[in-house]
Amino acid sequence: MNTTGLTRLTTGEQLPFDAAAYAREDGSPDPPVLDVTYDYEQAARDLRDSAAEFQSRRDVFRWLPLLPVDAPGKVLPAGGTPLVSAPRLAQRYGLKTLLLKDESRNPTRCLKDRATAVGMTLAFTQGYTDVYCASAGNAAISLAGFAAHAGLTCHAFVPNIASCTRINWLRRYGAQVHVSSGNYDQAFTESEIAGAEHGWYSRNCALNPFLVEGKKTCAFEIVEALGGARVDWVISASGDGCTLGAIGKGFREMRAVGFSDELPRLVGVQAEAIQPLVQRYAGEQPGPEEAGQTDAHSIAVRRPRNALRLLNEVEACDGQMLAVNDEEIATAQRRLATRAGIVAEFTSAATLAALDRLAEEQSLEGQAAVLIVTGGRLDEES
Ligand SMILES: *Cc1c(COP(=O)(O)O)cnc(C)c1O
Repeated sequence: MNTTGLTRLTTGEQLPFDAAAYAREDGSPDPPVLDVTYDYEQAARDLRDSAAEFQSRRDVFRWLPLLPVDAPGKVLPAGGTPLVSAPRLAQRYGLKTLLLKDESRNPTRCLKDRATAVGMTLAFTQGYTDVYCASAGNAAISLAGFAAHAGLTCHAFVPNIASCTRINWLRRYGAQVHVSSGNYDQAFTESEIAGAEHGWYSRNCALNPFLVEGKKTCAFEIVEALGGARVDWVISASGDGCTLGAIGKGFREMRAVGFSDELPRLVGVQAEAIQPLVQRYAGEQPGPEEAGQTDAHSIAVRRPRNALRLLNEVEACDGQMLAVNDEEIATAQRRLATRAGIVAEFTSAATLAALDRLAEEQSLEGQAAVLIVTGGRLDEES
């Protein structure tokens, strides 16, 4: 492994690497989350070693020199998703290129599988038999699928608004489902209490520092697919902040190992009804906790647990945070299907609605943008 240690994002404190590290919540607004650091010179040499075994892989372990594991895990193959061009949509904005990173092509149809692949590898090597997470659906379904494949027991804590579609997916994979009486934030707290009590392995992405390491491979693949060519904008829906925070880290790491020169500007999108990250980036007080409802369930997070990671990354690349309403998201979801042939889940379609907003503010003429289509599961399916 090329890991050199862990940095606590709340304090900047440097800690030695520990494969069992975890950030238990301590009641402060931002949990004491940890970030894995690497020897980038060594990683750059390893990544250029064309004889290395990982070079022939197409999943997240293609990036082994920048992952916190010794060897690829025997897990479902996550990553290696296509970057689909959408010329009909690009034209409307005057963009030179508009690319859709289609994460619905992962084993359980969501970007979450990248994190699960790394988490399950660690759970396996550390001898766990049970894994858990809190989730509006996708993270739990991902964990349930990977646990089914590996023969581990999955405990999924879901909010009371979780759709039948999503609960059916959990049961299909044989997960133990705990439906909370409250929202995602309450399900999260319940999962942490049960996980600590029973000694299960956690797939709660902000608190387990190794999961964002899997998610960042999404950025690595974009850089590789474009041969390091310039991308102006990378847009993703943000709830806890882990996904786009990880993607930002991925782009910085590609620059650190010499695979690209510039950082794209990240745009984090939230639903207008629940937008604590947008408000915080603008220096405003988030609204009252109970405010607002949105159909973008995968980002309906009132108390984001990886806000620091995300906001640091957005700032580092001169990016933006913005909010769109559910009507705009619904229109965007239809346009992705009818003009790009991509069926995105409601939450993921917020990226195209965000592109509309950007285009209203400035000319995107001749630029290149990537939308992260984080998932493709529809809630009306059975
Ligand atoms: C989890 C999820 C997100 C947001 O990720 P965060 O890490 O919570 O910011 C976006 N889209 C989909 C489909 C998701 O499942």
